[in-house]
Amino acid sequence: MSFAKIFTRGLLGLHAPLIEVEVHVSQGLPSLTIVGLAEAAVRESKDRVRSAIINSGFQFPTKRLTINLAPADLPKDGSRLDLPIALGILIASGQIPENATDNLEFIGELALDGQLRSVTGILSIAIACQQSGHQLILPKQNAQEASQLPQFEVFAAQHLKDVCEHLSKQQPIPQYQVQMPIAVDQYQCDLADVKGQLRPRRALEIAAAGGHSLLFKGPPGTGKTLLASRLASILPPLNMQENLEVARIYSVANTVHTFGQRPFRAPHHTASAIALVGGGSHPKPGEITLAHLGVLFLDELPEFDRKVLEVLRQPLESKEIVISRASRQMTFPANFQLIAAMNPCPCGYAFNQDVRCQCSADAIKRYQNRISGPLLDRIDLHLDVPPLQATELQDTTPVENSQTVRERVIQAYQRQIQRQNCLNHALSPKQLEQYVVLDPQAQKIIEMAQQRLNLSARAYHRVLRVARSIADLSEHSEIQTQHLTEALSYRAQQN
Ligand SMILES: [Zn+2]
Repeated sequence: MSFAKIFTRGLLGLHAPLIEVEVHVSQGLPSLTIVGLAEAAVRESKDRVRSAIINSGFQFPTKRLTINLAPADLPKDGSRLDLPIALGILIASGQIPENATDNLEFIGELALDGQLRSVTGILSIAIACQQSGHQLILPKQNAQEASQLPQFEVFAAQHLKDVCEHLSKQQPIPQYQVQMPIAVDQYQCDLADVKGQLRPRRALEIAAAGGHSLLFKGPPGTGKTLLASRLASILPPLNMQENLEVARIYSVANTVHTFGQRPFRAPHHTASAIALVGGGSHPKPGEITLAHLGVLFLDELPEFDRKVLEVLRQPLESKEIVISRASRQMTFPANFQLIAAMNPCPCGYAFNQDVRCQCSADAIKRYQNRISGPLLDRIDLHLDVPPLQATELQDTTPVENSQTVRERVIQAYQRQIQRQNCLNHALSPKQLEQYVVLDPQAQKIIEMAQQRLNLSARAYHRVLRVARSIADLSEHSEIQTQHLTEALSYRAQQN
């Protein structure tokens, strides 16, 4: 046998396309050529593979080796192809028998001594591998992550030798004992820690119930961050499919995540556009994708670069981000809930009775204008978070905890899904006509408000969606006056 073919996987965004590693050993001067759009990291694998083969007790063939990575038009990056390349060389040079690698896939980086090292994106690889009906042999450090996938057989090896002994049937690798991941559905931050602030708490609950975006405006130290960081704890738990979706993103991004929790991401205001929405020469998920099915919190909103904020507009509507690179397009999911916070002025104390604001009227205007109208327009709920009064701070009566609020949110979720199969924030104008029925008095109020507040069509629809969520929280199928006026109150403060 002077030819071998091994299956492995690349990584393209969140997907893991199949790659065939073909190895041909022929007579001629000793050489090793890798063809098939291999990038630098793959070309470097030559040296690692050579050392790993020798240090595992095999011989590196002193012949002409040609390695082809197919399909040729798929860019191949990283050191993940080390193991399949080494196995291809060993099979093609007749050092291990060529048998039954047809339904097997291999992945892993090799250390010079032949030890296997973990790779990123293993969950994407495992999902694709399972869909093809293949089994996966992977580095031991990756086994736990891959076994998050239900009903997937994982074979974990520590050394190149282990894989060779498995293939030559000397010592089969035992199937990895799957420890089903325990979804940790508890959060350290609880609403019980937040004193007072009844109105912002209420807005947070409405935002959670309908998946609405929210802007808190207020001086420093009023608990805006405290409130925002508790949104995830009042959202309904994720199901298994959603947990996997989130875990897959974190696997590709190589970032730590607690399985079962909704993500909470709070990028700093110096974040670049690429850090926020994703990209780079090998496109990686950005903060909005890391916040998928969870919360994206932008504190000090006006401090963000305006251009950076503008790139948020499209994913806020489409719930995904398309990144174009040369001839390729990649789509990352970005179904996040946005919470933003800002001070009323650069010093933070405008409209405050106790502390004097140092800013000129001009500076305040400039500060507020840093956020574009269209972006503000896309935020459903706006509200002021006032400084706490001394009496509120001293109040020791217990407040509702996250679990209590969460139960109401879950009820509201169920009402929405049963009625329209989506959350209220996603209702189209056509669906609004069908599902947001106003009584005559409410109709009159919205018409008056539209004139007085000069609502854009988009803002008008947002008010209706929020009113729908408020009605759902109070288990009403019709929108009544009080639901609508409350929804309008989260719009009126926009100045
Ligand atoms: Zn000020």
